[in-house]
Amino acid sequence: MRVVPISLPTPFYIGPVNVYLIAEDPLTIIDTGPKTKEAIDALRAGLRKEGFLVSDLRRIILTHAHEDHCGLARSLRDEAKNAEVFVHNWETGHRHSRLEYEVHLNLLVRAGVPEDEIEKMRGLYDRMRKYADSFGDDEFTALWDEAELEFESGSLRILHTPGHTPGSCSFLREADRTIIAGDCVLKRITPNPVLSPDPLDPSRRFPSLAEYMVSLSRLRAFAPTLVYGGHGEPIRDYEELFHRYFRAFQERQAQVIGLVPKNGATAWDVALEMFPRADDVHRFLSVSEAVAHLDMAYSEGKISYELNGPTEVYKQIA
Ligand SMILES: [Zn+2]
Ligand SMILES: [Zn+2]
Repeated sequence: MRVVPISLPTPFYIGPVNVYLIAEDPLTIIDTGPKTKEAIDALRAGLRKEGFLVSDLRRIILTHAHEDHCGLARSLRDEAKNAEVFVHNWETGHRHSRLEYEVHLNLLVRAGVPEDEIEKMRGLYDRMRKYADSFGDDEFTALWDEAELEFESGSLRILHTPGHTPGSCSFLREADRTIIAGDCVLKRITPNPVLSPDPLDPSRRFPSLAEYMVSLSRLRAFAPTLVYGGHGEPIRDYEELFHRYFRAFQERQAQVIGLVPKNGATAWDVALEMFPRADDVHRFLSVSEAVAHLDMAYSEGKISYELNGPTEVYKQIA
């Protein structure tokens, strides 16, 4: 099975995104790049180099529904008539870039984000929306954990690896223990467990960090020889990266617990302490990170919390 990485430009801070062409029947692309002219041009060039056109694509598979990964899904599908689009059912919160704003609003209020900051984040959602088309719920085929995607020369096993987002999926080629992991595994940065509603009960938060750690451990159990991430170069030493991630999580966990005072702080307060200079999308990501770690510390009995109106206030355990 020939996996061809194609790097596409994005207008985002993270830089280029990797999409992966499975260059055999049925011709498949894993992730698409954002909906920009630069990305589609680069994708066409990448396909052409391998002797293919967009119209040859039969399957469009999404590791998750962030704009840099799913933005072109609809355009590609329409150009490649009858191509099938796959995404995990739990990718509801982000799917088709339709960030369910009202649900997120509720999560941000609970995290103690002030109104004017929430307004700025709303602006951010609106700006992001143009980088991806929306899809109807019936325009996707669901990815199921442990199911196999068959190809001419073998198959890819779908692994549901939630954490970065609830519906994030990775794809395992068992023959040589190669994994295509989207943003679940990135070489140079520890990926974010992004604040998301729980797909099974949107009034709750998805326990992203706990799920993330389970997913990383699950990938480790396959002893991967090569992991292709959503950004940056492929990872040949997953074991080392795994330990690095866990160390980083533990350090952050200790830092977050240390920032929770006796008289209480919100996730927003903690985020400001951790990243005082974060702005724009980083503001949102820093709140995400604070919430993820506070949730985890609370679930492990290391801090307590109480509600102050709609807002959660965390406290040191006396
Ligand atoms: Zn992502
Ligand atoms: Zn990404």
